[in-house]
Amino acid sequence: MTVSLPVAARGEQYAARDACNLCCSTEVRVVALRDRDGQALRTVMCTGCGLVRCDPMPEPATLDRYYRERYRIDYKQRTEPSRRHILRAGRVAIDRLARLPRVPVPETGVCRALDIGAGGGEFAYLLGRATGMAVTGIEPNEGYAGHARRTLGLDLLVSPLHEALPGGEPFDLITMFHVLEHLCDPGAALARLATWLAPGGLAVVEVPNVEATCQAPGHLFHAAHLYNFNAAALERLGHKAGLEPVDRWFSADRGNVSVTLRRPAAHLQPAGGLSAEDALGAALAMPGNAARVWQVRSAHTPWRHHATLQPAVRALRRLGNRAGETWALRRMPADPRAMLDRLFEQWQVAG
Ligand SMILES: [Zn+2]
Repeated sequence: MTVSLPVAARGEQYAARDACNLCCSTEVRVVALRDRDGQALRTVMCTGCGLVRCDPMPEPATLDRYYRERYRIDYKQRTEPSRRHILRAGRVAIDRLARLPRVPVPETGVCRALDIGAGGGEFAYLLGRATGMAVTGIEPNEGYAGHARRTLGLDLLVSPLHEALPGGEPFDLITMFHVLEHLCDPGAALARLATWLAPGGLAVVEVPNVEATCQAPGHLFHAAHLYNFNAAALERLGHKAGLEPVDRWFSADRGNVSVTLRRPAAHLQPAGGLSAEDALGAALAMPGNAARVWQVRSAHTPWRHHATLQPAVRALRRLGNRAGETWALRRMPADPRAMLDRLFEQWQVAG
């Protein structure tokens, strides 16, 4: 994933080879030159709209192979989720269920849902369990998808998003948690997603927030995150795909942003369908947003970050969470499905 780069300095502006995925401008400004592991990664911000991306982009075929075979091994050191990962993902899934929007019920009476980037299947399984929806998943990684099918009995497509063809009726709900930032064409991904939604159907999309200040400034950019969004850029990309934003949400530490997008009953003319590229750029540009993102990222300096209690609070919270997980795992069933069922029952009792 690492690329060799020409020398550039933070703040430098130049015309990139590739046009911005959102507003089509090529003008960019350098935000960072290293990823959170200290490796070379040039991160730039489009001066037209504030969308942040890495430059250059990796080749799509390289990415497909990486997510199919390597990603989970590199970041989790495993080909299938551990019990700890299942517990952690199950708890996150319960939090996501708790703030799920109300989904319009189709005439058939059974909602259809699609979870894109299903991972080990924890959210897809619990969504079906909690709502009775018929849930399908898409997951590019063979090991995690195999685990989800085998242990949770999930209906999963093993495929990168841009090749996936989920059949049947349109979906009433599509969820996509921490996927969009990994894709080299997030606009095309949302446009594809929009075609799978029923009129009035909802998409919930969550990504890391580029305006986050909860982690040290040098820890923000990640070689696998090709794009970094704030709420406005994410919603505008949804608009470009013909989806209207209906809600936005931030995690307590503002490290993640999630938006709910709706496919209108009468499908909006996607802005991408405009013929004149200049008109498209003018319609989608958000120069005020670029100024805002630049200001937030420039103000969050290492000195300012470490002058607050945030690093200590974050480290303590992480330690506490890990100890809590170890304690909880002793009481949890060994079987992944039984563990998720237990989490669901605990949530029902608490709620
Ligand atoms: Zn742009």
